[in-house]
Amino acid sequence: MSNRISPEKQQRIDFESQFINFEMIDILSKTILEELEAWANKTIYKPLGGVLRVERPLDESVNACAGINPKTPLEAVIKINMGMIREIYRDSFVFPPFSEQFVKDSDNIRDLNSQFRNLGFTFDSGLPVIQEDKRNNLYHLVKDIYVGKGERFTEDATACRFMYFEIALAWVFFHELSHLIQCHYRLKNQPSANVDLIEYHEIISSTESPEENSKEQSREILADMEGIDLTLKYMIRKDIFSSGALYLFMCALGCLFNRFYNGHSEKIDIGTGSHPHPIIRNEFSVAFITNSISQRLIEMGYAKDKLSVDIAIVYLSTRASLMSGIYWGWRYEDQQDGALTSFMKYSTTHDPEPRKACCLALEIEMNNQLVTIAGNHLMTDNFLSALSQMKSFFSQNG
Ligand SMILES: [Zn+2]
Repeated sequence: MSNRISPEKQQRIDFESQFINFEMIDILSKTILEELEAWANKTIYKPLGGVLRVERPLDESVNACAGINPKTPLEAVIKINMGMIREIYRDSFVFPPFSEQFVKDSDNIRDLNSQFRNLGFTFDSGLPVIQEDKRNNLYHLVKDIYVGKGERFTEDATACRFMYFEIALAWVFFHELSHLIQCHYRLKNQPSANVDLIEYHEIISSTESPEENSKEQSREILADMEGIDLTLKYMIRKDIFSSGALYLFMCALGCLFNRFYNGHSEKIDIGTGSHPHPIIRNEFSVAFITNSISQRLIEMGYAKDKLSVDIAIVYLSTRASLMSGIYWGWRYEDQQDGALTSFMKYSTTHDPEPRKACCLALEIEMNNQLVTIAGNHLMTDNFLSALSQMKSFFSQNG
């Protein structure tokens, strides 16, 4: 296991915690999660005679889980620790001003934009501009408290901060929900007749066999992908979908996978854990999100064909990967200024063979389990339609 967190930086972050407004985190996360809980009950659980509870345990660890009793699988619970919510909130506050400062101090984004011929979808500013009518309710709730309180709290930056927070938290919720609605308990190795509770924790080590690990890991990838699909639908439903919000979603995912990478070695293989190597999760997620968005934009009438939007999506994704990687290195890791982090090396062609082998092994397991998932899925309108329009991840990642 490899701890890449700089002790000095961690000390600074711990010091900073005393200034975090815990009441604000409590109120905002409650607002988002209660609404999501009500939506899931109304749309999925109630019509089936079930119920979903969402809890926010007062636990410092950056963890979340979904749980059911296999004897009553329609009574489900999702727990997202306050420790995880606090860290998402922290990044939602620090990532935007970091982005603004970064474009002032370096030419990287200008260089990237010129690689994309400065076409209309590129932007030179540190943050995207989210139009007034696409800002979220949280922004309107807090704008009088924050906007204008210092140079870091411009309207645009405040809109981005609260968008980042809402979307990142929604994705964590939807990832957990996906374990439940895909009925992953049916795919567990052990017979579940005598088990009272099956929980899917996000941070856990596993002692099962490599064969079981690859099955569990592929289910995590499937939960990541359906989590993305549900987050995109959520953004559309709430009328907050815009290229700026999409970019922030990609940045938030990048930050989360950078976070999960800590403790993983650079060696990429199936290994012994229940969760895939974060580099691999990131590869599948980027492939899914880029495909899924172009499909949605065509469905919504914003684009005529895939080709016309693909270049813009590749730009947003490349920029999000660059910015989240640089941010992570600067903010948390023990490294020299300007050096590529270990995670960022993998956004280049670094070490392709083990990545391909790992993606292929997981894709085979995904396909094996999709038959059961498709037959038991709790939602008729689910991510399988987006998935079926994609070619092999493996060949895309090749
Ligand atoms: Zn999971």
